[in-house]
Amino acid sequence: MSRTLASTITRIRAFRIDLPLREGRYAWSGGNAVEVFDATVVAIDTAGGLTGWGEICPLGPAYLPAYAAGARTGIAELAPQLLGLDACALGLVNARMDSAMRGHPYVKSALDMACWDVLGQTAGLPVATLMGGHVGESIALYRAISQDTPAKMAASVRKYRREGYRKFQLKVGGDPDVDIARIHAAADVLSPGDVLVADANTGWTQHAALRVAAAVADVNVYLEQPCLTYEQCRVVRAHTNRPFVLDEVIDGLDMVARAAGDGAADVINLKISKVGGLTKARQIRDLCVSLGLAMTIEDTWGGDIVTAAIAHLAHSTPASHLFSSTDFNSYGTVTFADGAPARVNGRMAASRAPGLGVTPRMKVLGRPVIDVRA
Ligand code: MG
Repeated sequence: MSRTLASTITRIRAFRIDLPLREGRYAWSGGNAVEVFDATVVAIDTAGGLTGWGEICPLGPAYLPAYAAGARTGIAELAPQLLGLDACALGLVNARMDSAMRGHPYVKSALDMACWDVLGQTAGLPVATLMGGHVGESIALYRAISQDTPAKMAASVRKYRREGYRKFQLKVGGDPDVDIARIHAAADVLSPGDVLVADANTGWTQHAALRVAAAVADVNVYLEQPCLTYEQCRVVRAHTNRPFVLDEVIDGLDMVARAAGDGAADVINLKISKVGGLTKARQIRDLCVSLGLAMTIEDTWGGDIVTAAIAHLAHSTPASHLFSSTDFNSYGTVTFADGAPARVNGRMAASRAPGLGVTPRMKVLGRPVIDVRA
């Protein structure tokens, strides 16, 4: 059987899995919170008997234009279009997805991810190798600190610092006076070398953001995505001396190019599903490296497979441009795949096994909710 035939897509399944949180709840700006994440795992089977795995998990329906049931509806719509394609031909797979469905990048992410897993297994190489090679032994992770009172958030920073994290992303974007107190309280428990980011997740109005920025001008903190629009963020950027991160508005290559041209950010937050999968995320990653723009490399949320995909993309990124990454699988209580990265002292490593290096536990995944075959 030829290589192309062996990697021909013959069947696509999707599984729904609930991911409850260890802390019970994850809260961010605008009064938003999630208690149980709703993830969708995708399996792509090939004619040669390989199975590639992908995952998509939106941060609830209120964060980005994405929601869990929408991911499954979109995957059911797209999957028949991919049967018969070569899973290793990632450019062709993405072109087919983009011609069959306009937009909806999050729908395409798990399908693209699963094709990368097939490509790696076919080549006998880890995805990180295909993306440039493992840089060093491991990568540094940030810990998201769920929104709470200033004292409780500072206590949470202390707790996760004891577990080895050195980078902390405070969920602010609420009342500006409380947020100022949150930032000061967290900064007070940090040590030299630690990194603090105040992430408003679009939650501040422009005037509130300017008040916070002025009040923390002498704090060693990054400001992330203060306001809803790019234009508002640029105004805040122009008036603060703090390093600046853009996240939610960076939804594709064109926005990266625009932000870089405008000098609108020092760091961007690259989320795999926000831009449509690993193929497009890698393109953006490589552009950012060439432009000298640092990145937090992660996803909207996820479990073991998303964490593995993040690890491969982040671990193959030059250390000079990798600001931080995330181990989402440590936030939840459910393990559904073996071989996924496991955090050690606030760091993780991408698998050295072929593909993504994950083996799902079929008993945990249960029966597929989507199943299409040639
Ligand atoms: Mg963010």
